[in-house]
This record gives sequence, structure tokens and C-alpha cells, in this order.
Amino acid sequence: MWTKTRHKVITVLGRPIIAMLCKIRCHFKVGEKIRLTKGQPRLFLSNHSTAYDQFFMALSVNRPLYYMVSSVAFTPFVSKLLRFAVAPVERVKGKPDSVCIRNTYKIIKEGESFWIAPEGNRTLDGITGYISPSIVKLIRLLKIPVSFFVIEGGYGIQPRWANSVRKGKIKCYVKNTIDYEEYSKLSDDEFYSIICDNLYIKEQSLGNKYYSSKLAEGMEKFAYVCPHCNKITSFSTKGDVISCDICGLSARYLPDMTFQTLDGNPFAFKDTAEWYAFQREYVHNYSFLGLDVNTPLFYDDEIILLNNVPRRKLDKGTLIFYPNRMEFVGKKQSVVFDLDSTDSLCCTTIRARDVLTIHCSRESYLLKPSKKVNTFKYLHMFYHAKNLLNCVNCTAKNEFLGI
Ligand SMILES: [Zn+2]
Repeated sequence: MWTKTRHKVITVLGRPIIAMLCKIRCHFKVGEKIRLTKGQPRLFLSNHSTAYDQFFMALSVNRPLYYMVSSVAFTPFVSKLLRFAVAPVERVKGKPDSVCIRNTYKIIKEGESFWIAPEGNRTLDGITGYISPSIVKLIRLLKIPVSFFVIEGGYGIQPRWANSVRKGKIKCYVKNTIDYEEYSKLSDDEFYSIICDNLYIKEQSLGNKYYSSKLAEGMEKFAYVCPHCNKITSFSTKGDVISCDICGLSARYLPDMTFQTLDGNPFAFKDTAEWYAFQREYVHNYSFLGLDVNTPLFYDDEIILLNNVPRRKLDKGTLIFYPNRMEFVGKKQSVVFDLDSTDSLCCTTIRARDVLTIHCSRESYLLKPSKKVNTFKYLHMFYHAKNLLNCVNCTAKNEFLGI
């Protein structure tokens, strides 16, 4: 049995502590509970905007809820603790995992409900991100009702790139529920489109305001292309202002999640959603043709290289992106990640705000910045280079950039 009585006991005992934590950290108030019955499992799908989403979900139902976590989301000690306390299903981001699907199936067959954030990643720009169409297959396999649990205000309260939590509204609710009889009549494309529509949120359109004295701080982990000098660059932030380190272009980030120039005029982008779209377009159009393979496109110092399992520090050094490879050069060792490698399992993701994880067939590494570094530019360029090599029918519109 995957599900245990102790999961229920720990959930009941831990609920008040988690409720208090969510109230203090995110101003989240538990609303009316969704009543679940043992033996009548339900699948909850939600958008993913904060590090507390699984708690918002868990506090909104009356029974223990099982969920999926990334294998690199927690330290080995915390993972062990979670396995004992609530037994989440672990998956390796970016890798197909039949074991994890089997375990989810097992939990459902034992009559308990399950939560998944199908984006797999917290939104970076305030809009619900890419959802893999494989979610349709998983739901069809489970044959249970699906509820769409929508989290509004998560990006406002705690943007993924931010150093601090802001004051403002957060609201969670079940938007819609679809029974097996209903979705079994739909085609895969129709069902996928219904899933995406129900989970779609653009936080900037909700009209909420969020307050903090550090509104822009941390945004250098989000922004890496400047609209003025049109280069991949680094940014600095202080208070509510973000500035380009090359040309000095500055903008103010306001409580309503929009930008304006320092003298109060409209900025190049209305909000982070527009800035993110611009960066994606920049990467989509980036050509490696004719570039010298030994001239770095960009690099960052003071990056810590760690082994994923067992988790241990291997070295500290510089991460460099060349037109044909990504390379870590440390004091003791160098690691090369070929972009034209035939190793199809080699993929990268970002854990938390800036930890670049690289899973290859034999090894998994974590590259952790020890100062403010934007690692999303590595992720996006890595996928773009791979797509150019492997994807025959890709167009700029459908190109997946790792998030
Ligand atoms: Zn600039």
C-alpha cells in the first residue's frame, strides 16, 4: 500500500501549522473546504505560481492529498522526511517516468486523491506556462473526475524571481470539474485545450495590487535581454527600480505589476509578460551560424557545481555558453555539455529561482550561483540550440524553451 494511516494523522496534525505559515508568509486564508470521500478519488490540476501552492491545495480539502514533486526540489534529508510524512510521488524533471505514473495510478486505485501542477514549473512572467500534452494520457489512464484548482494572486504575492513576499490578495478556488464520462467523449486535442483554458491565468489582468519596498529586487533573475541595447546583459535592482548594466536603461516596477520609466512615462514593456515574450522571441531568432565556437556568448563566475545524487559540492568556477556547448570550468575539474550531442536524455531545468539542473544519461548536475546570476538565459539558449538541431518542423511559435 502506498497510502498509510500516518499520512492522515500527520496531515491533520500539521494542518494548523501550515495554515499559519501560509497566512503569515502569503496572507492566504483557508476558505470553505472541498469535501472528498475515501474511495471516490479526484485529480486536482492547478496553475503553479508560488512555492506554497501544494499547501494552498492541501489546506483546501478535508482529506490527505497526494502529489508529485521533482526529485531535485528538496535536499536528501527533506526528501526522506517527506517520503515518511506524506509520501509524494517523485519525478525527474524533463525525463519520461513510467514509475511515477504507475505510483500515481496506485494511489488513485487505493481511493485517495491527487494534485498535479501540470506546468511543472512556477510561472516566471505571470502567465500560465507550457503544459505538456502528455497530461491528457495520464488523466485518461486514471479515469477519475478532474477538478481545476485555480490560484489567483500567487505571482503578485511571490513572483518566482523575487527576494521578498508582497502584501496583497491571493484567492484559490475550483473553477470547474469534468467527469470521466464527459472527457472520455472528447478528442485528445479538445481535452488538452479545455485543460489549458481552465488553468490559464494572466495575473497582470486581474487588477490586483501588491506592495513591498523591494518590488523589483530579484528581477535580474528574470530579465536578461535589454530592450534598449538589444543585448544579452545583466541587470541590477534596488527597491522598485531595475537597470541594465550595459546601457543604464532603467524602469520602475509598480504595485499593479506594470513598468514605467523613472520620469513616469510608458516603458518599452507594459509588464513582465511582455518582457518575457520579447526575450523568448529574441532567443527564437538567435542564429548560431558563422559564430566562432571558441568565443563565449555569455558567462558567469562563482557558480557552484554539485552532484545531484548523492548531493555534494564538486567545485566552484565559471559557467560559459559557447555556440556549440555549455562548459563549466572549475578549479579542479571541467564539465562540457555538448549542444549537438546525440544524448537525447540530456536536458536542463531550473530549480527554485536560479539553480540550473542538467540531467544527462549518466550524471545529473546542479549549477548553483553564489551571487545574483540569471540562469534562465542558459536554459532558453540550451533548448533553442537543441531545437535547431533536432526539430525539423519547429517554428518560432511552438518552440519549447525548457519552461
Ligand atoms: Zn541595455
